[in-house]
Amino acid sequence: LAQHFLDRIAVSDLNAFLHVDPALTLKQAAAADALLASGKATALTGIPIAHKDIFVTRDLRSTAGSHMLENYVSPFDATVVEKLAQAGMVTLGKLNCDEFAMGSANENSFFGAVKNPWDKTAVPGGSSGGSAAAIAARLTPATTGTDTGGSIRQPAAFCGVTGIKPTYGSVSRYGMIAFASSLDQGGPIAQTAEDCGMLLNAMVGFDEKDSTSVERKAEDFNRDLNKSLQGLRIGVPKEFFSKGLAADVEQSVRAALAEYVKLGATLVDISLPKTELSIPVYYVIAPAEASSNLSRFDGVRYGHRAADYKDLNDMYRQSRTEGFGDEVKRRILVGAYVLSHGYYDAYYLQAQKIRRLIAQDFAAAFEKCDVIMGPVAPTVAWDLGAQSDDPVANYLADIFTLSTSLAGLPGMSIPCGFGQGEKNSKRPVGLQLIGNYFDEARLLNVAHQYQ
Ligand code: GLN
Repeated sequence: LAQHFLDRIAVSDLNAFLHVDPALTLKQAAAADALLASGKATALTGIPIAHKDIFVTRDLRSTAGSHMLENYVSPFDATVVEKLAQAGMVTLGKLNCDEFAMGSANENSFFGAVKNPWDKTAVPGGSSGGSAAAIAARLTPATTGTDTGGSIRQPAAFCGVTGIKPTYGSVSRYGMIAFASSLDQGGPIAQTAEDCGMLLNAMVGFDEKDSTSVERKAEDFNRDLNKSLQGLRIGVPKEFFSKGLAADVEQSVRAALAEYVKLGATLVDISLPKTELSIPVYYVIAPAEASSNLSRFDGVRYGHRAADYKDLNDMYRQSRTEGFGDEVKRRILVGAYVLSHGYYDAYYLQAQKIRRLIAQDFAAAFEKCDVIMGPVAPTVAWDLGAQSDDPVANYLADIFTLSTSLAGLPGMSIPCGFGQGEKNSKRPVGLQLIGNYFDEARLLNVAHQYQ
């Protein structure tokens, strides 16, 4: 199985994989075979997986898509990597992503853009673009991704695959290169809800090495897959069907909602009035946390160090100037600004207050419904290069995924049809499912019944 996928990866031109080491993969596969023979296997033993290059690994480089970490090899494995290896999964390699997970199109990677397998002139979405593209192109049956403001759900939508961001705190952030710590959450991208549930079962769990890790009783996320949807109340937020939503996306999403009605669900009109504010709130809070997290890349402890410098301060400056790409620098500047004396109250504190109100909107909505549905993104995947010089256009495209992240709720993307690219190509549409805290088993049930 591992050899089959290694062969496919070797001939792929999508730029989804950054690092592969076939000898290492085959060694792990042999160990999995031995485990299978011994009768100690789990359902995941021997199944190949590839990790977003944001998760650190001892045996392969961990770059976070950045020149800064181009040659970085971690002395330890991320908790997620360790847990999946313990379940017997076989690592195929590391996947391309936006630099430090900042982006919505995978065009911010130092290692170049990833192509969307459905139409190689389209972006795969981001920041987990490599993960979603690799699943869609059948280069691996399972991947990990991370979602800070939509980076699991949006690339899954753009590539026509399934991804879930669990409740904040469910999956350990230890060894996940930090972007915005109060938002960052790991999760799987795979072909189906059932596959995602199996992966979640192995990924979720308390980790004392992550201070925001949640301690809960272990559960089987796939326990309700076959439950009937009779009586399910689906909240449909009017703000998710507002201006700016492309007609082809709206059509596919409404068709999916109609399918749910046939399965026994009822649609309930709800309102999430602060949806629009989630963009400015997120693009204050995430850069603020990023500016703090990324201060560790100083050219001293690890990562890139400039060759020529005059003194210590110049060494910091040159190393960071050379090591970071434009989008990362933009976020550091914005973050440092909103945290600075005199602006903190006006921007950062204000954003924190609205973040709380966004969470309250969801709490009110969940009194009327069991799950919320809408589009993942306002459009299908755009053309490669079409928005690469327009950061604000990319930020605006995050409108439907940011609020879930700000509230810490679980969110999922499942394929629900196709829209059209500019050249009339077939580009996938994703349906977004948002659940209440720790209601992942229900999200997977609802997704599975449709799939
Ligand atoms: N597109 C968003 C950003 O650029 C979200 C990225 C993410 O979830 N990692 O920040």
